[in-house]
Amino acid sequence: MNTTLKTNITVKEICDGFVYNELEGKGLFGLSGKLTIQPEYQRNYIYASDGGKREMAVIESVLKEYPIGLIYFNKVSSDKFEVLDGQQRITSLGRFITDKFAIKDENGMEQYFGGMAKDKQKKLLETKLLIYECEGTESQIKEWFKTINIAGVPLNNQELLNAVYSGPFVTKAKEEFSNSQNANIQKWSAYVSGSANRQEFLECALDWVSKGNIGDYMSKRRKDKNIDELKKYFNTVIDWVSSVFADVESEMRGLEWGRLYEEYHQKTYNPVKVSAEARKLYGDPYIKNRKGIFEYVLGGSTDTKLLEVRVFEEVIKRVVYTKQTAKAEKKSESNCPLCAVGHDANREKIWSLGEMDADHVAAWSKGGKTTIKNCEMLCKTHNRAKGNR
Ligand SMILES: [Zn+2]
Repeated sequence: MNTTLKTNITVKEICDGFVYNELEGKGLFGLSGKLTIQPEYQRNYIYASDGGKREMAVIESVLKEYPIGLIYFNKVSSDKFEVLDGQQRITSLGRFITDKFAIKDENGMEQYFGGMAKDKQKKLLETKLLIYECEGTESQIKEWFKTINIAGVPLNNQELLNAVYSGPFVTKAKEEFSNSQNANIQKWSAYVSGSANRQEFLECALDWVSKGNIGDYMSKRRKDKNIDELKKYFNTVIDWVSSVFADVESEMRGLEWGRLYEEYHQKTYNPVKVSAEARKLYGDPYIKNRKGIFEYVLGGSTDTKLLEVRVFEEVIKRVVYTKQTAKAEKKSESNCPLCAVGHDANREKIWSLGEMDADHVAAWSKGGKTTIKNCEMLCKTHNRAKGNR
């Protein structure tokens, strides 16, 4: 049997000519008529039951750029295909694009495809799906499905890729990365999440070296008898992280070290300073996203967005507002200290609480705390101006 991995087919192409048959509860055609979505013997569309949660989840996943898994086509003739696996997901996409159901937006409002912003529509339509085209006799195809769904535990993406691109390269790669006896596993586990048995170290190594194009990379190297490049790149990234960050923290596991290596490995770091900085941030109770600490430090400790620093609580804002306003009224000047020293019409303006925002007097990045003593209310314009500096 032949299998070809297609990575360029878009949602738009798949759903071109999509027809949904209400009466039979089936998505019928796609790919401009070349694709039969639910052949006669397939079960009906079930994702719309249960309040439509599952079909909504398919759309939300695509919009958030989460993978929706592999899809299998059976190539019936040179330009005719049937969906072997993926009918429910494809039908969800087709039904959404033809306004058969709505998703909920960030504010819990119903949103139909037709009413979505153009850029969101475009994003959905241009999303590429991972599709295997299988070509073979019926018994070969059945055999194939048996192997990919061993004992009811479906293979994950990497296990499937290993099956599709089996050969000397995969054999060598598994010896190195999928062998739980490998003495390096413990070291790798500090930075890579998952288990060797389920091919997650191999997946990570391939992801890093291929910059996310694992299928292409494996396809090109299928016949290679060595894995030198893969091994060298992976070890280079791991060595780089462990030399920049002397202390191993649990939040390091599973970060995009391949991307961070590409972005920052040409900079020089003083491990002693990096270590001190990271430790200080680790002890900072105002940091909500501790996984962001490493990229923050690598980037020169400037991009505080990575850390999600806690904001002032409402009660603190209210207390500071009341105090500031009473004082300002006595002096007949604005309760925004920056407006008060200005020369325009706002010099004496008393802003309402809703028109103001809390600001750190001493910047958080310079050691200022998120406490009442370090809180000052500014009008929104001045707060924004200060934040941009
Ligand atoms: Zn102001």
